[in-house]
Amino acid sequence: MNPVFLTIDNRRTQVARGTTVLEAAEGLGIRIPTMCHVKGLEPATSCFVCAVQIEGRRTLTPACGMPASDGMVVRTDTEDVRRARKIALELLLSDHAGECVAPCAARCPADLDIPGFVYEIAAGSVRQSMEVINRRLALPGSLGRICPRLCEHGCRRCEHDQGLAIGALHRYAADVDGGGKPYVPAKAPPTGKSVAIAGAGPAGLSAAFYLLQKGHDCTLFDAAKAAGGMLRYGIPAYRLPKDALDAEIALISQLGARWRMDERWGRDFSLASLRRDHDAVFLATGAQQAQGLQCEGEELALPGIEFLEQVAKDHSPRLGSSVLVIGGGNTAMDCARSAIRLGGCSVKVLYRRTRNEMPCLMEEVEGAEAEGVEFDFLVSPVRLESTDGRRILLTCRRMKPGEPDASGRRIPVPVEGSDFSLECSTVIAATGQSVERTLAEREGLRVTTWGIAADERTLATNIPGVFAGGDAVLGADLAVRAVAAGRIAAASIHQYLSGEPVVGEPSQWGIAMQPVDELERAEIFRAIEKAARIRMPEIGHTQRLTSFAEIEKGLTEEDARREALRCISCGCRKADCCELRGLATEYQVDPYRFAGERRRFSQDNSHPEIIYEPGKCILCGVCVRIAGEAGEPFGLSIVGRGFEVAVAAPFGLPLAEGLRYTAVQCAEACPSGALALRTARACDLRCGAAVAAGPDLVRLV
Ligand SMILES: Cc1cc2nc3c(=O)[nH]c(=O)nc-3n(C[C@H](O)[C@H](O)[C@H](O)COP(=O)(O)OP(=O)(O)OC[C@H]3O[C@@H](n4cnc5c(N)ncnc54)[C@H](O)[C@@H]3O)c2cc1C
Ligand code: SF4
Ligand code: SF4
Ligand code: SF4
Repeated sequence: MNPVFLTIDNRRTQVARGTTVLEAAEGLGIRIPTMCHVKGLEPATSCFVCAVQIEGRRTLTPACGMPASDGMVVRTDTEDVRRARKIALELLLSDHAGECVAPCAARCPADLDIPGFVYEIAAGSVRQSMEVINRRLALPGSLGRICPRLCEHGCRRCEHDQGLAIGALHRYAADVDGGGKPYVPAKAPPTGKSVAIAGAGPAGLSAAFYLLQKGHDCTLFDAAKAAGGMLRYGIPAYRLPKDALDAEIALISQLGARWRMDERWGRDFSLASLRRDHDAVFLATGAQQAQGLQCEGEELALPGIEFLEQVAKDHSPRLGSSVLVIGGGNTAMDCARSAIRLGGCSVKVLYRRTRNEMPCLMEEVEGAEAEGVEFDFLVSPVRLESTDGRRILLTCRRMKPGEPDASGRRIPVPVEGSDFSLECSTVIAATGQSVERTLAEREGLRVTTWGIAADERTLATNIPGVFAGGDAVLGADLAVRAVAAGRIAAASIHQYLSGEPVVGEPSQWGIAMQPVDELERAEIFRAIEKAARIRMPEIGHTQRLTSFAEIEKGLTEEDARREALRCISCGCRKADCCELRGLATEYQVDPYRFAGERRRFSQDNSHPEIIYEPGKCILCGVCVRIAGEAGEPFGLSIVGRGFEVAVAAPFGLPLAEGLRYTAVQCAEACPSGALALRTARACDLRCGAAVAAGPDLVRLV
């Protein structure tokens, strides 16, 4: 038969008659995306994602069903084509009932694969769990102790009983992994490039952790004598013991980090000298400046971070018999609870807003109260005076909640004529920290209100080859965000050193399934018994008050596995290989553009090999055609009408009857997560473990 000649994207080609435009493009190595086409099966032309422009045609044409013809001129990637594909994808997603990423993971600033690492703990594979954790998170043992655990507030189990103890679980993995021989990630061969990191706090340590794995040489410069930043000199040992931090820093040494401690930027070295001696620089010097009380006599107060540093260095100052701590954040709680431990004094915290508006963890407040710390809310300092050179008279004013600010918190307003005085031996000012920006400006760096100016995605500063992250950029913030910044900076610096465009980490598109309604909740938890979250064992009250021993003792293996088995493995089974998600990322799709009423989440768990979630089905018919072609006795068909249309086995038969022989093939070919293989997840494990362990464990019926 005569061949046909056509042109695709300005390239001429010859194909056999009957060849489709999709196949002809493929022959030229030109990729036309498609969701519904399966090689060897009749084209369905249903998804319209393979739309192309054919010269002489007013409308776009699906390439999978269009035979090539002589003289045809095809364009596969014009602006119109891209727009049409984007719209087609947005329509496919307009009523999608799925979530690519588990709601807990979506809240973790470090994007930790939470169901992934929790599953490994449930399976008893601590080493594998650490491998999963370390892909996204350095210092998991330290963070497991101090992170405010934003993830746990997003945990779906909060809607059923209690959120999973996620922080405690990654602390457990880090603490017990290897029994003294912890997991050290593999290193790429040396690249010959070197990176200077100024600041060895969580941000700098995390950057080193990932850069060393890429084969770059890393030298960390720090003004302090030991690495760890605020984790060492701010957060007290009863929350984060220094040997736990040391063990994680030792891993970074093992990866090959070089340390230049007791060297200060601005005194012992300059940015210019770092740039001269190294191929790239990461600035992670944190927020070190204590904010004053901004009132008369403020110099009489002891800055909170100075007090905590002295305690950490075993040089605790004399506090006298009565201590007033001013502030309501982590630093204030750490000061108050440290002062109580030093003994011999009463401690009262004064905060200008209400208890519920305190930015620290509520468990910190409860812990402090249990240890005898008193609180007075809606109080602000007005003046400090020295009475006899040893005691301080603090004048305060009562406040009342006023109008909400931009963050929704009510601005405290002074109550006229409400001044009162308190006498004490020490006032500790714990009202926050800020970034010292003068040095950065002097070195030619641009700055913002909070710190060094850096691009949000890449953390690049205005000086080529210089990156910045953590508190130094954000102002006083959270350790987990500093650790995430270190990882992102490492990705950008690696790109910079490899001569690639500096774009930061690839951003992952995702759809979420919020809110989940009552019926969906019932479906999700249909077979899940209620089970309380595991309680972390703690040291006794007397020991707390008389030492800086760690309060939380950590989980036992049994408790950790039991807790991990509570995880119901949310997120999508196909998150890493879903074509719909891949294309939505490529075409920067807005999943909510055409969103109306979405389908309800449901799950068919009845098939022994696969799981079917109809809310994710895009009705491409791939499975229907595979089953039909293979001669399944019943197969699948598209049933129902309008909004209720769905793929199902005919005559109301169970899925296992429809797909007797081709279930795995169908799941592998399904372009979304609608049909997915039953991979090992915590829920599958729970099923088996429940049978083995008897009636105590949470059961999946
Ligand atoms: C008392 C306190 C309690 C906290 N509690 C919590 C908590 O419970 N949970 C939480 O998530 N976060 C908490 N935080 C916040 C958290 O500690 C910080 O967000 C985090 O440490 C920031 O990391 P970083 O690496 O950016 O900076 P830092 O930890 O501040 O580290 C910066 C490093 O740079 C060094 N450095 C500074 N200036 C120079 C210079 N000129 N030259 C050389 N080196 C320099 C410092 O010595 C330090 O080692 C707390 C902070 C404080 C102060
Ligand atoms: S149950 Fe597991 S996967 Fe689901 S939100 Fe909670 S921790 Fe995450
Ligand atoms: S780092 Fe914090 S937010 Fe992320 S998983 Fe751990 S506890 Fe949760
Ligand atoms: S089917 Fe694809 S797009 Fe839908 S939730 Fe799963 S991974 Fe995300």
